[in-house]
Amino acid sequence: MTRGIEKAVVLGAGTMGARIAAHFANAGLPCIFVRLTACNLRCSYCDSAYAFTEGKKQSLADVRAEIDRLAKPFAHSTLDARRSTLPLVELTGGEPLLQKGALPLMQQLCDDGYTVLLETSGAHDISAVDPRVRRIMDLKCPSSGEVARNRWENLAQLKSTDEIKFVIGTVEDYAWVKQQIAQHKLDAICPLLVSWVHPLAPEQQDKSLKKVPAGQAPISRLQLVENIINDALPVRFQAQLHKIIWPPEQRGV
Ligand code: SF4
Repeated sequence: MTRGIEKAVVLGAGTMGARIAAHFANAGLPCIFVRLTACNLRCSYCDSAYAFTEGKKQSLADVRAEIDRLAKPFAHSTLDARRSTLPLVELTGGEPLLQKGALPLMQQLCDDGYTVLLETSGAHDISAVDPRVRRIMDLKCPSSGEVARNRWENLAQLKSTDEIKFVIGTVEDYAWVKQQIAQHKLDAICPLLVSWVHPLAPEQQDKSLKKVPAGQAPISRLQLVENIINDALPVRFQAQLHKIIWPPEQRGV
């Protein structure tokens, strides 16, 4: 077993925890979230702005030891997760790919037998990620304020085991998503996830976040779902489980 010597910056022990996964293929399954510090985007709806700066340096060995500890209670789980080992381990952020330690960490966790997920903004090259990792890649919609940061070359790297995620907050976002699916034939690449922009609690409204561009009209959750049905859009609507279950100030979800 290889032991990493590089450092990863992850948030403190209180924010690396076993929770439940939210994304479609794994929704509701136990998942250990490793939240890495820093992001170079400032999406208008970001609910984890604390991850921009908070955190402490930990060695990869320490991170893996903590994951092993959190995973222990699930060692004999009889839960049928099909092709996944439980608990899942998800690297999220912030933006995990900003840290060079993220790549060896994912590789080592795969070597250890974990099913590893990576949540990434879609603004960074994903080609060096271990091929065993299941990547959940955002395509940023116009209301995020970060649509220009989408790295379209990443589409050629995606496999059927990955997922593309859209976070939709406005009528303009919905029209944009429809257009991108048709133009890039995204549904032929991998499953497509759509979630609705959940309003931020006052304490989550970080001053550094981008504003929704002027002239965009908010879309309700109901309107979004009805549009998807009426258009037979080839996507899965995704409820943000952590927002239903845990309070906004809860870390590690
Ligand atoms: S990519 Fe956007 S939503 Fe994700 S952590 Fe960065 S600013 Fe927040």
